[in-house]
Amino acid sequence: MKTIGILTSGGDAPGMNAAIRSVVRTSVFNGLKVMGIGHGYNGLLSGEVREMDISSVADIIHRGGTMLRTARCEEFETEDGRKKALNIIEVFGIDGLIILGGDGTFRGAKDLMDLGVPVICIPCTIDNDMGYTDYSIGFMTAIETVVDAISKIRDTSTSHGRANIVEVMGRDCGDIALYSGLAGGAESIIVRETDIGVDEVCKKIIQGRNRGKLHHIIVLAEGIRDPYEVSDEIKDKTGAEVRVTTLGHIQRGGTPTSFDRIMASNMGHKAVELLLNNRSGQALGMKCNAIIDMNLEEALKVEKTFDIDMYNMARTLSI
Ligand code: ADP
Repeated sequence: MKTIGILTSGGDAPGMNAAIRSVVRTSVFNGLKVMGIGHGYNGLLSGEVREMDISSVADIIHRGGTMLRTARCEEFETEDGRKKALNIIEVFGIDGLIILGGDGTFRGAKDLMDLGVPVICIPCTIDNDMGYTDYSIGFMTAIETVVDAISKIRDTSTSHGRANIVEVMGRDCGDIALYSGLAGGAESIIVRETDIGVDEVCKKIIQGRNRGKLHHIIVLAEGIRDPYEVSDEIKDKTGAEVRVTTLGHIQRGGTPTSFDRIMASNMGHKAVELLLNNRSGQALGMKCNAIIDMNLEEALKVEKTFDIDMYNMARTLSI
């Protein structure tokens, strides 16, 4: 192992930069050459490859986004596309690849692994939708962003005695809604993993109003229902004044939290160590606060489970 490549792919996540920094610095410390590949698998197809030295990753640990840029690349999902990628890997003499991204990115990494390329994957997605790891890089930062927004919305919601729907990201996974709803003290959390719906929310609003409580924060995971439709239904059933805030892409940016920076630094360091020890084909993760590595194929098979106990606790705390 003399030269390693690193790329970030799919949706960006705060903390990717901290992981890139860790990979580059650990590699250089160990006498390895590092090639940064721009725009995810696109860069691997087009040859967007440049050498990175220790100062190329200076001043990025605190920055959101990814300095290598990211992209989605349909061509990579074809045999021809992967052939092109293999050519570039050969041309630049890359002996191993460290790949940062989410579920889709990991599937692409597995394809490269099956073609004989040594790969290590680092989980980066704000959605926290990968079953084999408790946390992915970027998730905790997204939670902080949502909780900060909920706190601000709560102020005005209380002043006006309104109900507020806060729509959050997560794709098919309710973790952002659950964790931010719990930490933000939301009265209701609607996720696709439970059958708690608008009727329970309405009941709570009416019960709250009967004991003098005027505001109500509802965290709604994206893609379940149109938030404005939910708002109309709540208005019709309770007579409450309702406002909708869709947080959107602010959840994907921002300075990463210390937790994400530390996890990213640990995983970047471990990824290089694994390659140096000829232990490729692994996905890094976190279980019970420890950094773990798992066979990539196995990791991809682990289904994401929803923490229903935490959800029920959040319900109890918001009676
Ligand atoms: P994320 O990694 O954030 O889940 P995507 O699902 O968009 O993001 O995947 C990022 C890229 O990974 C895609 O543009 C594609 O190049 C590659 N990819 C996704 N799914 C697959 C797959 N099933 N097989 C091979 N490559 C894939």
